[in-house]
Amino acid sequence: MTPQTAATSSACPGCGAVLPAIEGPTNPQRPASAACSAAVGEITARCYQESELLSVRQLPVDAWAVQHPGPPGRITNQSLALHLMTLCLFIEDGVDPADGSALHAQMMTLRPSYAWLEPPRQPGWLTTADVLFAANLTDYPPSEYTQAVRDWAESAWRAWRPAHDTVRAWLRRWEDTTAKSAQSNQAKRPHRRGR
Ligand SMILES: [Zn+2]
Repeated sequence: MTPQTAATSSACPGCGAVLPAIEGPTNPQRPASAACSAAVGEITARCYQESELLSVRQLPVDAWAVQHPGPPGRITNQSLALHLMTLCLFIEDGVDPADGSALHAQMMTLRPSYAWLEPPRQPGWLTTADVLFAANLTDYPPSEYTQAVRDWAESAWRAWRPAHDTVRAWLRRWEDTTAKSAQSNQAKRPHRRGR
C-alpha cells in the first residue's frame, strides 16, 4: 500500500523533522507525525536489508524512541529509560549496538521501575529527515550509512544531557543487581552431575 502524499510538508511534533506530509498510521503513545513514523521504518528497514548494516539496527530505534518519548506512565517511562541506557552504552562506552536487543532483554528481566524524565526542549541536531535520504539511495555506501545513523544516535543522546547522570545511575543499578543475582544464583545452584 502506498501512503497518500500531500503537496505540503509537516513538522513532526516530537523531533521537528520537516517531511512531506502523508496519511498514515501514528502511535498514540508517541508524539510523532505519520511521515516521521514512516521515515524511521524506512531507515530501520535498510539496516535489515544489508548484512553490513544489521549490527547497527538498534541505533535508529533508540534515537527515534528518545526523540519521541510517550506521555509519563509505567510502560512509557520504562521504554524511555531502556532506550537511553543503551544509547549511553553505545555512545559513551563503545558497546557494540549489535548487542542492543540482548541488552534490552536483560534490563527487562528484573522488571525495574523508572521515574519519568522531562524531555529536552531541543531533541537533537539530527532527525529522521537527515538520515532518510540515505535510506532511499540504494547505492549510498553502507559505511557512510552507518556513520549517518551513529551521528543521529549521538545527537539524540547529547540532547538528553541534563538526564545523563540519572541514566548512568540506572545503568550502575542494573549492573550491580545483575552481578548480585548472578552471584546468588551460582551460590544456590547445586553442582550438576550427569544423570
Ligand atoms: Zn519525529
